Amino acid sequence: MKITDIEVIVLRVPGIDDPCEWGEDAVIVKVYTDGDIVGIGESDTSPMVAKAAILAPETNLYCSGLKRLLIGENPLEIQRLWDKMYWSSNYMGRRGAGIHAISAIDIALWDIASQYYQVPIYMLLGGKYRNRIKAYGTFIPADKPEDNREIAVKLKEQGYTSLKFGGGILGDDPDVDIEIIRNVREAVGDSFELEIDIATKWRTYGHAASMFKSLEKYNLNWIEEPILADDEKGYAKLSGITSAKIAGGESLTTRFEFNSFLKNAQPDIVQPDITRCGGISEMRKIYDLAQMNGTRLIPHGFSTGILLAATVQFLAATEHGDLMEYSQSQSPLFRDLVKNKIPFEDGYVNVPDCIGLGVEIDEELLNKYRID
Ligand SMILES: [Mg+2]
Repeated sequence: MKITDIEVIVLRVPGIDDPCEWGEDAVIVKVYTDGDIVGIGESDTSPMVAKAAILAPETNLYCSGLKRLLIGENPLEIQRLWDKMYWSSNYMGRRGAGIHAISAIDIALWDIASQYYQVPIYMLLGGKYRNRIKAYGTFIPADKPEDNREIAVKLKEQGYTSLKFGGGILGDDPDVDIEIIRNVREAVGDSFELEIDIATKWRTYGHAASMFKSLEKYNLNWIEEPILADDEKGYAKLSGITSAKIAGGESLTTRFEFNSFLKNAQPDIVQPDITRCGGISEMRKIYDLAQMNGTRLIPHGFSTGILLAATVQFLAATEHGDLMEYSQSQSPLFRDLVKNKIPFEDGYVNVPDCIGLGVEIDEELLNKYRID
């Protein structure tokens, strides 16, 4: 079997007729082979930048677009192809968007391998630890603190036993932050599992530390990305300040960045995104590093049903992979792009015993939002 073509599809939800928050765009990759098998992958990144990383011509031996490296290659040699892409793009890749692009292709290669061998991806990864995975819901808080009560209660009624909120105005104003958190906590009750995502907006260790102390009484399960992941010292100092766990790392890529973050920042929870960190292949290595550092891995995941399917296959085959994120995005790209998107049911996501990622793309919707 040989790779014959790679298609990069950029999707964008128009702003006028289709209001949407988070999930306004996506980049999907289709890897074609000389058989009937097509692999699909995606990256949650800047679509145009990922597209360029894949389609760019060669500048020199360290600066090659990914597509030309893969044409004619055997798609089943996933690790060798990962290494080839990494090495041959290291001037313009190595971290960030270059790895995001590799992630999308890596996921597509696992999709191809599963179809070729006719066993689920979790079997190729070593076997299934669980049939279902607990899922926590993520929502963007409303600007008026009291409006978040209804949002949280509705999600609790849908079966969520764990909720996270972040984005929007959270992190902008300490008093408003506390009011939003107080309202959500009161609405869901004292024992409900609640986490917040600051998206690095507290910026400095000093401000974050004072917020941690003010929030102690709200019994938060974790506080995510209080500051940039580059501030490893800040993270290390925040660790252990309150009973809330510290989480971060969604913007990091490769085992190399995670190795440094895990060792120096000492987070309680690390959150690689499978469509950014280097795909399924690299996620496995990051998981092993997390284990060696006594850190829990709970993947970031807030894009389409393709990301969701890849994350579920990885977690199913991971010893301690028992918690995942489930987006509450109203973007049609999350809701409808994958017609058979893995549903949330009674607090959990069931692991499908499918061949490949098992995603059925709504081609009509894909063509409606396609802008390339
Ligand atoms: Mg986050």
